[in-house]
Amino acid sequence: MWPWFNRNFVYRPISFFRGELTLRRLGECRPRQWLPAAELETYRKSRLERLAWHAAANVPFYRDLAALRGLDFGEMDVAGIMSKFPVVDKQLLKNEGASFVAANVPGRKFQLRTGGSTGEPLTLLTDGRAAGERRGTYYRFLEWWGIRPGDKQARFWGLPLDARGRRRERVKDFLMNRCRFPAFDVKPEVVSVFWRKMRRFRPAYVYGFASTIFDVVETLAEMGYDGRGLKLKAAILTAETVYERQRKAVADFFGAPVVAEYGCGEAGVIAFECREGRLHLNADCIILEEVDGAAVITDLKAYAAPLIRYRLGDLIVKGPADPCPCGCTFPAIGGVAGRETDRFDLGEGRYSHPQSLNYVFQDFSALGTGVARFKVIQSRDGRSIRVLIEPAAAWRAEYADAIRAVIRDRLGYGGDVNVEVVSAIPRDPSGKLRYFVREH
Ligand SMILES: [Zn+2]
Repeated sequence: MWPWFNRNFVYRPISFFRGELTLRRLGECRPRQWLPAAELETYRKSRLERLAWHAAANVPFYRDLAALRGLDFGEMDVAGIMSKFPVVDKQLLKNEGASFVAANVPGRKFQLRTGGSTGEPLTLLTDGRAAGERRGTYYRFLEWWGIRPGDKQARFWGLPLDARGRRRERVKDFLMNRCRFPAFDVKPEVVSVFWRKMRRFRPAYVYGFASTIFDVVETLAEMGYDGRGLKLKAAILTAETVYERQRKAVADFFGAPVVAEYGCGEAGVIAFECREGRLHLNADCIILEEVDGAAVITDLKAYAAPLIRYRLGDLIVKGPADPCPCGCTFPAIGGVAGRETDRFDLGEGRYSHPQSLNYVFQDFSALGTGVARFKVIQSRDGRSIRVLIEPAAAWRAEYADAIRAVIRDRLGYGGDVNVEVVSAIPRDPSGKLRYFVREH
């Protein structure tokens, strides 16, 4: 479908019918990315204040909290308001879903189904306005890369297992002007069929799991194909840690910029990469706090089932504090290093951020030692780790000893280190690929 046709005659009416008005929301939120810091703070404060009043008055869970009674949120600053609300998590929302739903939000409601990186599904309620702003703020980031609503997308994503779910996704793909690479299981025959489909379809950008796109690109490159003819505006990699090597391979194959995205099913996009390489927060509608190094978000747009101080469980790396030359005033994060339950236990009460392992392997790969991919799995008692290595051509058996030595000497890990060379690193049930996990 032509992008302008899709934008005006499919996207616009559907988003009107759903009460989302995405293109209007996009127009409203676009100028906010350039607000001076003080004005942005005032704007965030007024939204948080409104949300806090709403939750305390209309959402059963918060109405029943004695700590919120009689408070005047207007008298408090952002940190003050936040401190009055408890941190909630997915388990609590799953157990007490109904008590998080506000009774007084008008208009159509939609169910948001999220898998999450833990693979545990959660269903949340959202209203049309929130859904419209969620999409609108997302397109605001896509505009940095010249992508507009209705532009064609090649999507590398999972498909539901049941027939009804598959049909629904196919209809959605058609209406959203996208074609989908349907599997996590990248086989050459599937890849070459998809490549032909993609060339006919001519997407403006590709979107999906970093490791899936990387695997497909690697397979296509081996088959001798060249992706530069597609003239993509960008390749957007999401939902997991992006390795430098993957970025480079995808950028080289398509001859297009590679863009990292961090988001969650519950609240939409949380941070997005600009042309200067920084991951800007979606700061006018999400407040991100760091509690013990882990991400806790407040979604300023969600009213039907408010998400206030919701613990996502991702470990966040701090970003640069100076203003970004791109002109966007939203603060930036350094990246996402994994799940908080996946801290690397060094023994004797010492822990390390899993990012440390990534650095070790980055240095190691920089020596040309032939590690294509790695994954570290720590036992539940913490006393041993398995280091899975997917080797590249330059791999030699003696590197296993070097890896062991580096993990012991540089990170100070005292347990057993078992290095295993495997042909392919297995994925999580959700399809993502994480470089460090702790057995639970
Ligand atoms: Zn920037």
